[in-house]
Amino acid sequence: MRLLVVEDDPDLNRQLVTALGDAGYAVDRAFDGEEGHFLGSTEPYDAIVLDIGLPKMDGLSVLENWRRAGHAMPVLILTARDRWSDKVQGFDAGADDYVAKPFHMEEVLARLRALLRRASGHASSELSCGPVRLDTRSGRVAVDGNPVRLTSHEYRLLSYLMHHAGRVVSRTELVEHLYDQDFDRDSNTIEVFVGRLRRKLDCDVIQTVRGLGYLLAPPEEPR
Ligand code: CA
Repeated sequence: MRLLVVEDDPDLNRQLVTALGDAGYAVDRAFDGEEGHFLGSTEPYDAIVLDIGLPKMDGLSVLENWRRAGHAMPVLILTARDRWSDKVQGFDAGADDYVAKPFHMEEVLARLRALLRRASGHASSELSCGPVRLDTRSGRVAVDGNPVRLTSHEYRLLSYLMHHAGRVVSRTELVEHLYDQDFDRDSNTIEVFVGRLRRKLDCDVIQTVRGLGYLLAPPEEPR
């Protein structure tokens, strides 16, 4: 999952980017409305954290412009605590949720998890496919109840496939959703990660669909 943080306060921006990175997301950052608007219009983010008070272009205008252009990604807005009008205008502009400043980072993380799973049609914070279970709250993965240790890249890959289980995901889509913009992207590394992930999971849930990409689906029942 790849996220964008648009926040002009350098400390807060850094805290958000660090916390989201630690939680296993690839994260890009922007410090003003114009830069944020550009990135959100051109990169396929899974969700965006958007401050309302921004230089160059305010957050509400950024959001309205995205929605007018048909960009439907989940957007969590950051509002000033005592400005109820921010929240009303934010929802009217197309926000999916808000957090009022000052906030606890845990609340931002929980709200983002909820937005991400709703966007992919999941109601529970625990995702499963055949014997594989992924708990989006704790970041833990288990196969047949046995814990499996994954690197952050492997976790990100599995989490993306689990959120989109049952449909073919192309290598290009994986590259776009697993790496931040500064990462040296190479779709061959995806194959390497998929190989490692398959070995660690030790069950047949990730299928290669020749020429198209990967499909996460429960293993077929032995006959
Ligand atoms: Ca601000």
